[in-house]
Amino acid sequence: MTHPAQPKASHFINGEYVEDTAGTPIPVIYAATGEQIATVHAATPAIVEQALSTAKAAQKAWAKMTGTERGRILRRAADIMRERNHELSVLETYDTGKPLQETLVADATSGADALEYFGGLAASLTGEHIPLGEDWVYTKREALGLCVGIGAWNYPTQIACWKGAPALACGNSMVFKPSETTPLCALKVAEILIEAGAPAGIYNVIQGMGEVGGALVTDPRVDKVSLTGSVPTGKKVYAAAAEGMKHVTMELGGKSPLIIFDDADIDNAVGGAINGNFYSSGQVCSNGTRVFVQKGIKEKFLARLAERTGNAILGDPMDEATSFGPMVTENQMNIVLGYIEKGKEEGARLICGGKRADMDGYFIEPTVFADVTDEMTIAREEIFGPVMSVLDFDTEEEVVARANDTEFGLSAGVFTKDFTRAHRVIGNLEAGSCFINSYNDAPVEAPFGGVKASGVGRENSKEAIKHFSQVKSVYVRMGDVEAAF
Ligand code: NDP
Repeated sequence: MTHPAQPKASHFINGEYVEDTAGTPIPVIYAATGEQIATVHAATPAIVEQALSTAKAAQKAWAKMTGTERGRILRRAADIMRERNHELSVLETYDTGKPLQETLVADATSGADALEYFGGLAASLTGEHIPLGEDWVYTKREALGLCVGIGAWNYPTQIACWKGAPALACGNSMVFKPSETTPLCALKVAEILIEAGAPAGIYNVIQGMGEVGGALVTDPRVDKVSLTGSVPTGKKVYAAAAEGMKHVTMELGGKSPLIIFDDADIDNAVGGAINGNFYSSGQVCSNGTRVFVQKGIKEKFLARLAERTGNAILGDPMDEATSFGPMVTENQMNIVLGYIEKGKEEGARLICGGKRADMDGYFIEPTVFADVTDEMTIAREEIFGPVMSVLDFDTEEEVVARANDTEFGLSAGVFTKDFTRAHRVIGNLEAGSCFINSYNDAPVEAPFGGVKASGVGRENSKEAIKHFSQVKSVYVRMGDVEAAF
């Protein structure tokens, strides 16, 4: 019998499911059991062409609709996503292995928030009138054209919506390529947009590995590329986009600092560290994986952290009591286990976890290392798994310098009761998305993105509008034209 996760076909183009079995088969593996639950096929050149030409042809008429009309469709899609939240969350769990306890509140709901928010903004995208005596200039905010979205595997529904909603609100069309690891959820987003009344061809989804992404990025019809992925992929995609002078948004990796001063509320700080390291089994780009704890509270913090981490419930992700799921793939599990071994070898002190869980699927125990020093591999490289490094510090000046000593700059957090210090420290940290007495909140109303190697541009909020539109200025002369001859 066909598994319920198996999609009708691999791709969604011009308002319908499309198949081309000549493309390389991509098995979809459920991370909690290792069982193959679906197969899709990578896009062949014919599929890539069909998606791009369809999206190109559909864009102009979409941009000519009023913002109110476009927004209404996006908001209707948001409502449908919320109505189907349970079904979409189950699919997200099949796609990623993340526990239903999380997916019910963080994936389709977050995608719906983006559709609702940008649907609401669509009608307000206006220009300016600039008076110049009798003459004047007016500006118009126009669509970029055809946008490509390329997603990572950790939030397949959310990424498809975070890119699609602002792109569509501004009058662009989109071809979205999910990660080959999690190809299922974006197809549902495309389906729901059509059901909500979107014209065919405005939002298309095609499957494939990096080479399909590469073909999309280099196509001359594409005006913008928005990527969520690792820094090395980001560098390649950014360079390819630059060849064609295309706009880009790059949401890349991180090794973010979470700084806990000794006046912090210990339980809140421990909660922040857990949210910033173990949510989605640590497969979150903005995670605060370098937890700097001021020496005075170090042992108290570690004791409470170990105690609460021991309460994590590993198990069947479809059981809503389960609070901690597997790694997305066997490969990712092995990468993370390799980092854990490195941590042990380089002399970090293992507080809890530290090995594969004794059960089916790609589970790793939530792992905490203490006495981590700045030069250790686990403190320098993005692990993308449930491995928290706790480092000690003495002074504010010292911790800020050490926190900034990395190529990354996605996020940063500080826990303290001294608000003057909190704002001063955040002001001095090189990061794009910051938190005070909290960690990893990502409301659609707030800009999200990194500095340094962690990215270019911002997703969500009104900032995203700037990255999916461009300004045309028009000079209007009322009198005669003076010319030299
Ligand atoms: P990858 O960088 O491996 O892949 C990202 C996407 O790019 C995938 O869809 C991939 O396809 C595609 N791709 C790979 N090579 C190319 C290429 N040459 N041209 C075009 N597309 C290409 O990242 P992961 O999927 O492994 O995701 C994990 C990374 O994503 C982490 O580093 C994490 O920090 C980052 N991330 C960043 C976020 C942010 O918002 N800042 C959010 C979430 C994750 P395929 O995988 O099919 O080969």
